[in-house]
Amino acid sequence: MPYLANPTRYDSMNYRRCGRSGLQLPAISVGLWQNFGEMDALGNCRNILRTAFDAGITHFDLANNYGPPAGAAEETFGRLYKDDFKAYRDELIISTKAGYGMWPGPYGDGGSRKYLVASLDQSLRRMGLDYVDIYYHHRPDPTTPIEESMAALDALVRQGKALYVGLSSYSPEETRRASAVLRELGTPCLIHQPKYSLLVRDIEDGLLDVLAEEGIGCIAFSALAQGVLTDKYLQGVPADSRAARRLGNGAIEESQLSPASLEKARQLNELAQSRGQSLAQMALAWVLRDPRMTSVIIGASKPQQVTDAVGSLANAQFSPDELARIDQMLA
Ligand code: NDP
Repeated sequence: MPYLANPTRYDSMNYRRCGRSGLQLPAISVGLWQNFGEMDALGNCRNILRTAFDAGITHFDLANNYGPPAGAAEETFGRLYKDDFKAYRDELIISTKAGYGMWPGPYGDGGSRKYLVASLDQSLRRMGLDYVDIYYHHRPDPTTPIEESMAALDALVRQGKALYVGLSSYSPEETRRASAVLRELGTPCLIHQPKYSLLVRDIEDGLLDVLAEEGIGCIAFSALAQGVLTDKYLQGVPADSRAARRLGNGAIEESQLSPASLEKARQLNELAQSRGQSLAQMALAWVLRDPRMTSVIIGASKPQQVTDAVGSLANAQFSPDELARIDQMLA
């Protein structure tokens, strides 16, 4: 059966302006870092993306190295895009990135113009796209002049291969410098993608202020701490969970489920229950409480996790007392 998107998909999603740009992003976006590799069932991948788009999630986040193996998530996405989403291209914001090791030799990693240009060409081929909506430098490369990396991003926009550019995991200082270079070139930085969650809050100490000053949007990753900020690990480690699957490549492992973070999750779970939502929903709503946050990118191994995430928007307000209690639990 050909896919027909839900006609009411735009009725309940909340869209938030990305910095001082003209672009709006859904409050919840979906990322393909995990669960879209070669060993993942295509039918499940399809159901995750359809569930997302049917709920008004217009933004899918990728990178050259997502898989495993590297490149596989873009290939999976390309296949599903061709089958299901091609007719909806103008309703989608598709992002990809380069910055981590992709191919052997000196040109397959880092921030050189050579790498950033070649990598985007490869990503476009894997996904079967003419252009991406957002192209990110995935991490700073201190061995390449920031001017060179930013000029490469600007050139790709001018060539029509990307509509906007972004930065990921740049420090506040690096972000300020990169933003100044991009503004000078005429391609303002659209968005920054940092790690941010109830358990990892360092962007509150500078980066968010820089983004607000520069007019750059913010999209958080690993807001569920790869599953720790859900109820899934509170009674042990389910066999099909990310921590049990020994995926490598940065995926959380059982040994990283520390008693201290699980205890915090337990306390937070009680508060979430008193708010009438799941811990995952409260964790996402908490990230979105800051008006400087444009969107939060969730990962999902099942379509229901996408539905659960979207449910967070039904109760996104926190009283000052709840926020203070959360700070106490995390202290
Ligand atoms: P999350 O913190 O959202 O973790 C996602 C995982 O949590 C899921 O795969 C699932 O794991 C579990 N989960 C999600 N919802 C629920 C739920 N309702 N109940 C129980 N468990 C749930 O994010 P990720 O770390 O996966 O990152 C999200 C995206 O962010 C990536 O896909 C990528 O696009 C981006 N990212 C960017 C990075 C960067 O450097 N720029 C780095 C990392 C991520 P399980 O398999 O156990 O079910």
